[in-house]
Formats: sequence, C-alpha cells, structure tokens
Amino acid sequence: MHEQMPDHRNVGYLTWDEWRRFRIAVEKSLIVVPWFRVAGYLRNEVANDRVNGTSDHPLGVPPTWLAAEEIARLSAELRYWPNLEDVANDADGAFTARMFTRELETALHRWPIEDKPRNVRQVRCQQCVGETIRYRPPEFGGDKVHIACTECGHEYTEDEFKTLIELVTAEMQRTEKAIGGTRRLGAA
Ligand SMILES: [Zn+2]
Repeated sequence: MHEQMPDHRNVGYLTWDEWRRFRIAVEKSLIVVPWFRVAGYLRNEVANDRVNGTSDHPLGVPPTWLAAEEIARLSAELRYWPNLEDVANDADGAFTARMFTRELETALHRWPIEDKPRNVRQVRCQQCVGETIRYRPPEFGGDKVHIACTECGHEYTEDEFKTLIELVTAEMQRTEKAIGGTRRLGAA
C-alpha cells in the first residue's frame, strides 16, 4: 500500500518516472490487451484505421489486434524476471520495460478505451449466427466486460469471445493469403 516512496531516485536502470509509468502500464495491460483484441471489430471510428491501412500490416487484421499481440509478446518477455524490481535492476529488463511502456501508452492514446457498448462486426453469434454481438468495454478499476448477443441473448465470457475473435482473425489472415495481390488490382 505504501510502497510508493515520495522521492525521485532511479529504480535500477529506470528513472523514477519510467518506473512509475512502467508499473501503471503493467497494471493497465491486463485490461487493455483484451480491449485491443476487439477494438478493431467494433462498429465505430476506431476501426477506420483499417480502411486507410498502410501496407506494413495485413489489410484484414485490425491494427489494434497487432498492438495487442505486440504488448502480449513483450509482457511474456517480462515474465522472465520474477518481479518488477528485478526487471528494473537488469539492463535488458529495463530495455524491455521501456518498450512495453511505450507500446502500451501509444496504443492506448490511439485507441482509448470507450465507455459505450458497441456492436461487434464481422463476428457472428455462435448461437443464432447473427452479426448481433454487443460488447461493453472494460473499465479501469471496476466492472467486468459484458458481451452478449442482442438477438438471442446468448452471453459470452471473455475467454469464449477471445476464441471467437481469434477464429475470425485467423480466417481473415487465410483469406488475405489466398487472394494475395489480387486486391491490388482494384475493386472487383
Ligand atoms: Zn445470438
């Protein structure tokens, strides 16, 4: 509770500010990563990046998904150290911590967590096959997300929903590969 010391010394290889932001990033990542996995599939301007997508990411997969992947990857690397202090006390750890913090802060700035429920596109309800799933985003420090179909009322746990999103993403990646450069020739 009182571990936050009111001084501004370095913590290992991190400055006090880097350390502070790193710990916030770690805490937020638990909520933010699941959000980024779905944000690109919600019906709103968050998804607009896909339309103007540059060629450095696959057209079919939302950039929010790729951000989630990157944060999850760095997060897995950080697990190499037993705790956050050990991360800070190691040169490689501090390097990874900085990348992790930057990645998370940038993504969260680009795609802030929204406070309104949104309809999910491109993902069909497993019960009634409608594109009618509604997603209530997570909130920091509180509520769990709520995911349910507005048509048949079927509710999804976060895990079930994540699996569903993964299936859709994998399907998109396959389609991308299959049609390859065809898309470049212009609208069919
Ligand atoms: Zn349904």
